[in-house]
Amino acid sequence: MITRLSSLFLRTLRDDPADAEVPSHKLLVRAGYVRRIAPGVYSWLPLGLRVLREVERVVREEMDAIGAQEISLPALLPRQAYETTNRWTEYGPALFRLKDRKNNDYLLGPTHEEMFALTVKGELNSYKDFPVTLYQVQTKYRDEERPRAGILRGREFIMKDSYSFDLDDEGLAKSYAAHRGAYQRMFERLGLKYVIVSAMSGAMGGSASEEFLAESANGEDTFVRCLESGYAANVEAVTTMAPPARSLEGLPEARVLDTPDTATIDALVTWANGADLGRTVTAADTLKNILVKTKLPGGEWELVGVGIPGDREVDTKRLEAALEPAEVVLLTESDFAKNPFLVRGYIGPRALAANGVRYLVDPRVVTGTAWITGADEAGKHVVDLVCGRDFTPDGTIEAAEVRDGDPSPDGGGPLVAARGIEIGHIFQLGRKYTDAFTVDVLGQDGKKVRPTMGSYGVGVSRLVAVIAEQCHDERGLRWPAEVAPADVHLVIAGKDADATAGAEQLAADLDARGVRVFLDDRKASPGVKFADAELLGVPVICVVGRGWKDGMVELRDRFAGTSREVPAAEALELLSGR
Ligand code: ATP
Ligand code: MG
Repeated sequence: MITRLSSLFLRTLRDDPADAEVPSHKLLVRAGYVRRIAPGVYSWLPLGLRVLREVERVVREEMDAIGAQEISLPALLPRQAYETTNRWTEYGPALFRLKDRKNNDYLLGPTHEEMFALTVKGELNSYKDFPVTLYQVQTKYRDEERPRAGILRGREFIMKDSYSFDLDDEGLAKSYAAHRGAYQRMFERLGLKYVIVSAMSGAMGGSASEEFLAESANGEDTFVRCLESGYAANVEAVTTMAPPARSLEGLPEARVLDTPDTATIDALVTWANGADLGRTVTAADTLKNILVKTKLPGGEWELVGVGIPGDREVDTKRLEAALEPAEVVLLTESDFAKNPFLVRGYIGPRALAANGVRYLVDPRVVTGTAWITGADEAGKHVVDLVCGRDFTPDGTIEAAEVRDGDPSPDGGGPLVAARGIEIGHIFQLGRKYTDAFTVDVLGQDGKKVRPTMGSYGVGVSRLVAVIAEQCHDERGLRWPAEVAPADVHLVIAGKDADATAGAEQLAADLDARGVRVFLDDRKASPGVKFADAELLGVPVICVVGRGWKDGMVELRDRFAGTSREVPAAEALELLSGR
């Protein structure tokens, strides 16, 4: 196929769009691949659509290769099924809800577990029909709180979502492994640098959920890894290595001391080191207590105290993940007013216990550890308050920040933090949805069996941005061959009639050999054409210009940044051999 730039529906921009922060967003807009319609809502112009289609092709090929079958469900869905699973409510403000002319409730699907479970229920009724995996490449809608970076986080976006149905856990594990492999091959072919991180704490069962994160400094997800052991996990999933419990014998008595103006950890540490405690105190010797309110769906608000070593901040995402599915909010002025035993800056375990507040502590707070913490009176702290002797927590919680240098949970060495963009997610869902819709089939022994599900997503439109994010330079995009909108970008440089005719012939010859060619036949200066060629990001730029009279063309490798002169005939061979 020859695409003539003189007639291509394309306008490149010299300046970055005002709302763009990350390179992929700037370049995809400047190169005329996408255009913004509303926050998180974008149009695909010809070149963007081509790259999107190439990404979809790779995704489909790898899904088909594991035996998944493609179907397509509507994005516009009636409320009923989502009511059954309570997601009509639980999904919160991210769900686009709308009404039809008869006042019936509808939604725009954010993900389709309900619909796939119902589809399988409608079609299959015997164990002989299993296992089965269905997928779609389809437009999803989520009213994201912060749509961001163009197509990276859209409110309308394209996802490949698949769902496996197996009769037992062993089958589910196999389907999960098949998806994991398919995703690895997919992202490999797309030329991405990525890591697989466990997305769920060990407590909930090892590999039941993993995320694929493309490495990127502009990513919204923080993950940690251990370079020695290869361990990698979402920060929410990191478990703290707890020290062993210590003996309570011979530990000094707890003492309440006057500590005026020590409502902050810094002030408290300064006081402690001036107070002749017989040891040097650091923030890690203090225990700070944070109060939150939690609510289970349909339940009452409950106060929860969270105790963590004073040298660490609370990581809100970890805190929320640890308390899921409960909703978590900080206390308001009126909550403090209603609970006068909460003395801000001086909250301690004793008042929490005395008032029946559930108290969860960092795993480092083990029996036998002594702490400096609030004494529940303004200007007073307690020193040597010993866990397991003077207070007994109701449990532990992973709410403290994870830091560079913390030990890896697998004991393999220190953790280092990095940032990434989620490109895929695989999840052993279990029977949540087949239970909700009583999806039962006839088992081999004549009894009913309930299939167990896996759910797996790939951010197809997001991938276009992620590839751009990893593959660009200061001059423009640099597509990997697998997804590039063309194979060769042929530039006619100059007005020489012979060179122009030569370029036309070369383009025709390449086309005849199945090479996809951009032919820049516009009436524009070579400088403008070169700049656009670099911006558009086709892997090879072939310049037909001054050298043509000697039978030479110039080949520029956009990926490697190299350039060389070759005879035209050789160029044809080189370019069609790729
Ligand atoms: P995120 O944490 O980035 O919001 P998610 O956990 O909501 O992602 P899933 O519900 O697992 O994502 O969706 C599957 C895949 O769809 C994700 O791995 C991601 O690549 C993609 N995706 C999710 N939300 C968006 C969005 N708003 N825009 C573009 N792609 C998205
Ligand atoms: Mg999300």
